[in-house]
Amino acid sequence: MNRLKEYRFCPRCGGKLESKIVKRGEPARLVCLSCDFVFYIDPKIAACTIVERSGKILLLKRAIEPAGGAWVIPGGFVDVGETVLQAAVRETKEEALLDVEPGPLVGVYSYPGVSVIVIVYEAQIIRGIPGAGDESLEAGLFLPSEIPWPSLAFTSTMDALKDYLDRRHPEATLSWNRRSPRDI
Ligand SMILES: [Zn+2]
Repeated sequence: MNRLKEYRFCPRCGGKLESKIVKRGEPARLVCLSCDFVFYIDPKIAACTIVERSGKILLLKRAIEPAGGAWVIPGGFVDVGETVLQAAVRETKEEALLDVEPGPLVGVYSYPGVSVIVIVYEAQIIRGIPGAGDESLEAGLFLPSEIPWPSLAFTSTMDALKDYLDRRHPEATLSWNRRSPRDI
């Protein structure tokens, strides 16, 4: 994925950006021809939760692209200055209308060529009934044996759910279906 072509002008002075090797052995960076500002394209961090209610796992049907119509766990991008846990709690409230208390880390998911790093926590419901909030069409509760594997949105969704089930529901040794991995 070449994201260097997405940006043409320096955010500091408005000068033209050019792709250059700044340090040997590292990827090319965008450098401003006027002020030498180096415009680093950093990964984005997403924080997610896996929430259970009465032995069922909460999934949300995405209302937006990418992966519109596919199922995800609640989550979204961490804002600057926010902790990952705060973001996980906030996103779960916004998307699934639930107040949650975050628990143990499920895992950190990153993939070659993918610009998003996904951090997933277990979470307990403190208050609320799962519903479809921002960016969701529908909230669904699924027994471990009913997870809609072919309709999950992202590779990270699949990998996090698998890690969670391995730990919390080892009895649900499922025929993992990895037919439709997408890009995150
Ligand atoms: Zn500049």
